[in-house]
Amino acid sequence: MTSVQTSQLPTAEDLRGRARAALQALGCRVELGEPGAHGVHASTPITGDVLFTIPETTPEQADAAIAEAAQAFTTWRTTPAPVRGALVGRLGELLVEHKAELATLVTLEAGKITSEALGEVQEMIDICQFAVGLSRQLYGKTIASERPGHRLMETWHPLGVVGVITAFNFPVAVWSWNAAIALVCGDTLVWKPSELTPLTALACQALAERAADDVGAPRTVSRLILGGREVGERLVDDPRVALLSATGSVRMGQQVGPRVAQRFGRVLLELGGNNAAIVTPSADLELAVRAIAFSAAGTAGQRCTTLRRLIVHRSIADGLVERIVSAYRQLPIGDPSVEGTLVGPLIHERSYRDMVGALERARAEGGEVFGGERHDFGEGSFYVAPAVVRMPSQTELMHEETFAPILYVVTYDEFDEAIALNNAVPQGLSSSIFTLDMREAERFMAADGSDCGIANVNIGTSGAEIGGAFGGEKQTGGGRESGSDAWKAYMRRATNTVNYSSELPLAQGVHFG
Ligand code: NAD
Repeated sequence: MTSVQTSQLPTAEDLRGRARAALQALGCRVELGEPGAHGVHASTPITGDVLFTIPETTPEQADAAIAEAAQAFTTWRTTPAPVRGALVGRLGELLVEHKAELATLVTLEAGKITSEALGEVQEMIDICQFAVGLSRQLYGKTIASERPGHRLMETWHPLGVVGVITAFNFPVAVWSWNAAIALVCGDTLVWKPSELTPLTALACQALAERAADDVGAPRTVSRLILGGREVGERLVDDPRVALLSATGSVRMGQQVGPRVAQRFGRVLLELGGNNAAIVTPSADLELAVRAIAFSAAGTAGQRCTTLRRLIVHRSIADGLVERIVSAYRQLPIGDPSVEGTLVGPLIHERSYRDMVGALERARAEGGEVFGGERHDFGEGSFYVAPAVVRMPSQTELMHEETFAPILYVVTYDEFDEAIALNNAVPQGLSSSIFTLDMREAERFMAADGSDCGIANVNIGTSGAEIGGAFGGEKQTGGGRESGSDAWKAYMRRATNTVNYSSELPLAQGVHFG
């Protein structure tokens, strides 16, 4: 890949100062070790520097955190749900108060541009508000009984300790989706964030503990453990963890899913995506180009819902690709904390190598690549121009999720072919169609349309609202988080039959004695 020389980034000392100030404002008192020390490295993709080192959670400390959460569960489960909601409500208020500081940390650790980092914290606020309302709406059904003088109903009970494992690219929102819902459902939780984003996690934990103090709830309803895969494995294998909610790559899901199933624990998996958009001849192309640019190049292609495949009707493909390439050329690339930047850095060198490798393979398979060059701000950071790749057909390469801004474009002739291409990959997270033809739009959302957990019309694949259930099918793992009735995954259901008659009729007309 060629590289483009670009301007200056802030110094590591400057970024350290910003991180310290944000942590202090968030009330997070943590031992910030020297960059070279042993432990979890809090680094920044802005420059590639290690800012601080944080002590890694030892196996004994992880065990103690699970024990504390399990102990807290014994009282939290019988605390009235609206009272539990008060804790989440307070957390939401603190997030409103500290939105900017937490967003600063998200930008520092995950490299998101300021507007997206603020959006991520807003998503936390939104889910807290949703969960407060939910705390008065944990409904069970009453079902018509076949027996006279009987009442048949369902009640929902808290599940236990929820283990939460999260990915680097949504370092705070995904925790809050789980935490807000689990806490109002009466569960307690232990969180293992990505080893790449320990500072944002420490800040969230500080806010959660402050919220608990403010409403008189035990701090131990929410625990944090820090480290890599081995620390996460403590949650995977511990039978006290009733539900493991894990967000990350398909590879991670393939490792943890069977291990939790082995001990008959529950899993909620939110794994990789490989999202497509279909653009039909009737599409509003002006709107489509804007949506495509945000979905494909936003967050430097590092969203699970990033648009990675564009399936375009042959008659409009040349013009559309030209417009996307021209829109891409205008995207300001650089320091994500600077106003006006739209594309920040890749998270680390491995992501960059993956991108280079994928583009090389695409060329070898006959792909024509636009963009994709590195913007060279210095050795340790990896900034790239988003790439558009016209492919002769949808190849195996396009069945993989490369976590970088590469948008592959293929063409179709018949609508059925477009749907088949959308569904041909192993993942099933998000999808969208750009069309003004109502038949195409409805068919896309029908049973024989998109097979994904998200199927949008005339908007991109990314940027979901918290009101809907979020998640995907096939290798994306099948889990649902966030809004709608996703709360049911965090509770157990009991079916109750009450006989208020003086007879004892048996179901199905059975007579016994
Ligand atoms: P990753 O799989 O490398 O790591 C995710 C988390 O899992 C980290 O906390 C990591 O320490 C932990 N982990 C990894 N292997 C583990 C194991 N065997 N046992 C226990 N814990 C383990 O993912 P990443 O690079 O941080 O994030 C990017 C990936 O996450 C992409 O594939 C993206 O699509 C996916 N993602 C999915 C969603 C979703 O909602 N579907 C949301 C965000 C990210």
